[in-house]
Amino acid sequence: MFDPKLIQQDFPILQKKVHGKKLVYLDNAATSQKPTQVIDAMVEYYYNHNANVHRGVHTLSDESTQLWHESRKVITDFFSCEDEELILVRNTTEAINGVVYGWALDHLKEGDVVLTTQMDHHSNLVPWQEVCKRVGATLEFVQVNEQGELEVEGLGVRIQRLGSRLKLIVLPHVSNALGTHNPVDEIVSLVHQTLTPKPSPLILIDGAQSAPHIPINFRKLDVDFFIFSGHKMLGPMGVGGLIVKKELLQSEKMKPWLFGGGMIEGVYTDHTDFNPDLVDRFTAGTPDVASTVGLAAACIYLRDLGMEHVEKHDRELVLYAIEKLTEVKQVKIVGPTSQKHQISKSPVYYGTGKNQTISKSEILNSKTNLLPRIGSVTFLYEGVHAHDVAQILDSEGIAVRSGHHCTMPLHTKFNWPATVRASFQVYNTKDDIDALVTGLEKVQQVFGKK
Ligand code: PMP
Repeated sequence: MFDPKLIQQDFPILQKKVHGKKLVYLDNAATSQKPTQVIDAMVEYYYNHNANVHRGVHTLSDESTQLWHESRKVITDFFSCEDEELILVRNTTEAINGVVYGWALDHLKEGDVVLTTQMDHHSNLVPWQEVCKRVGATLEFVQVNEQGELEVEGLGVRIQRLGSRLKLIVLPHVSNALGTHNPVDEIVSLVHQTLTPKPSPLILIDGAQSAPHIPINFRKLDVDFFIFSGHKMLGPMGVGGLIVKKELLQSEKMKPWLFGGGMIEGVYTDHTDFNPDLVDRFTAGTPDVASTVGLAAACIYLRDLGMEHVEKHDRELVLYAIEKLTEVKQVKIVGPTSQKHQISKSPVYYGTGKNQTISKSEILNSKTNLLPRIGSVTFLYEGVHAHDVAQILDSEGIAVRSGHHCTMPLHTKFNWPATVRASFQVYNTKDDIDALVTGLEKVQQVFGKK
């Protein structure tokens, strides 16, 4: 049974007192806490198995190599991809840069278009600005509407108009700033339907904020690149994944971008033959085995909880937070707060104009909970800067994030100087949200806003 109170017992840091108060950790979109199972797996690795992989014939090296491969298997099972499709990197940012150096710089040229969104994290924007500048391509944006959702009406026509110039679409599965759960499946089928039989652009999904909250099936997503950070999904810092469709790797259109030991088959003074094994070819140098072991432990932890339960829990917390924060007069929530009236069967269901809200009781019934938002609730507090709000909350032991959350263009578009974000994980409860609302009363007291 999914019980956040029991889950809390697995996270030693949650026992910590901050300013003498119980820690209420609501900064999970920045990084999640780690359960004992993850910490222990890493400690156990260093205590008992540490050695470099592949390059030794001794026992420890064998154990380390085996653990590395077993851990990769757990991770690829978690994401429903093949072993060869997973390139382990440090984090989402490095994975996106991997696509830049491993594919984009060789395949984008003057006049091409990269389509991104106004809600992308800087990690999925700055690299594309840089690529476009270098090759003479154009970066175009899907707009974000007042509800904090992608304005996908007319996207099909736009894609058709761009035709073969459109080489790459990059978008976040879930927005880190707005919590918006984007209709990736619909966009993918729209792209494929619109451009069939013409060549379709490649699609890159930034899954940094979806992997921790919803089940991911890379095969079903049918995209070219899916990217995530281990540290946001209960795993350690320093490991993340770039999942690449096997056909793209096999076609050698996606090439290694790091060169050195480990990824070679034969080295000669005038050339090098790269390892034909895809996993090895994309693993130059010593991998971070301990972090990979830790990430596998996090995947096992989430798998055993059941990602469906994790998703349901997260969605309930989001709805509860919206309900409670709406009652605070000074708070203005940004991002989706109401459900579209009807999810149509057509490929694109957002922006159809059928945006009547449904009653709160319908929303709170998880069977009808289709609010396109997960993982976080972001808000403005009238008359008080977000950093001041966050500081006062910290004095109450409540950790939230304030600022532009690495989405400056989005904040500029809506004239938000900075926002406050409360983001959730498996160990959060409605009590934590109640504590947040109580903490906001202190903001009122300090700033005299009644
Ligand atoms: N994309 C999104 C949507 C994110 O939320 C983040 C982290 N806030 C990143 C990319 C960058 O992740 P990392 O810092 O782990 O590279």
